[in-house]
Amino acid sequence: MKNTLIDKILDLIAPHHCYYCGRLGSGWCEGCCQSYLPRPKIKIYKNNKLISREIFLGERDGILMKIVDDYKFNERKDVHAMLLEMLLQSLSPIISEDGRDFCLVPLPTNPNHIRIRGFDHISLIGRKLAKALHIDFNDKILVRAKNTTQRGKTAQERRKQAKKAYRVAREINDDKIYILFDDIKTTGSTLESAAKLLHIAGAGEIWVVYILQQK
Ligand SMILES: [Zn+2]
Repeated sequence: MKNTLIDKILDLIAPHHCYYCGRLGSGWCEGCCQSYLPRPKIKIYKNNKLISREIFLGERDGILMKIVDDYKFNERKDVHAMLLEMLLQSLSPIISEDGRDFCLVPLPTNPNHIRIRGFDHISLIGRKLAKALHIDFNDKILVRAKNTTQRGKTAQERRKQAKKAYRVAREINDDKIYILFDDIKTTGSTLESAAKLLHIAGAGEIWVVYILQQK
């Protein structure tokens, strides 16, 4: 992780390298954005009342992990465009073929992390993704009940904490399919508890979309 002032200054003046081929320019050069588009992983659950579909870009390793880590921890807000494009290419055929009404709901980010980054990294991508997919976006439905952080906690602690982390603050339309959106799925407890809250509030069908799966 970058932390010195020199690193920060170098980052500002140095042009970026393509994550895939290393060529100077953008994080994703023209050639590589054709050849290295991640193929989405899709899980369909027929007998799960809570979550009926899960879509994500890949495991948390390799270049994808580097991109997400840079976005979250290394002040590379610019790579949101890359992640957005990957998500859009993955979701667009699925959403347009389905044809039903969707509403994308970002998982609320810890306010301390928003303050440190200067922006909400989930909402930023979620809002643009929903717009590009021509579906609703609503970041008022699910709100934080408490200021809690999950990093570094044990699975059991996370599960316990996830249960009381959020609450539903807006009315749910049971005709819509709600898509819960997050960056990383670790134990799945956060997404599951959020899905449970939407389900209790009346959501008929819930999908979850995230960028990476942490094994
Ligand atoms: Zn390249």
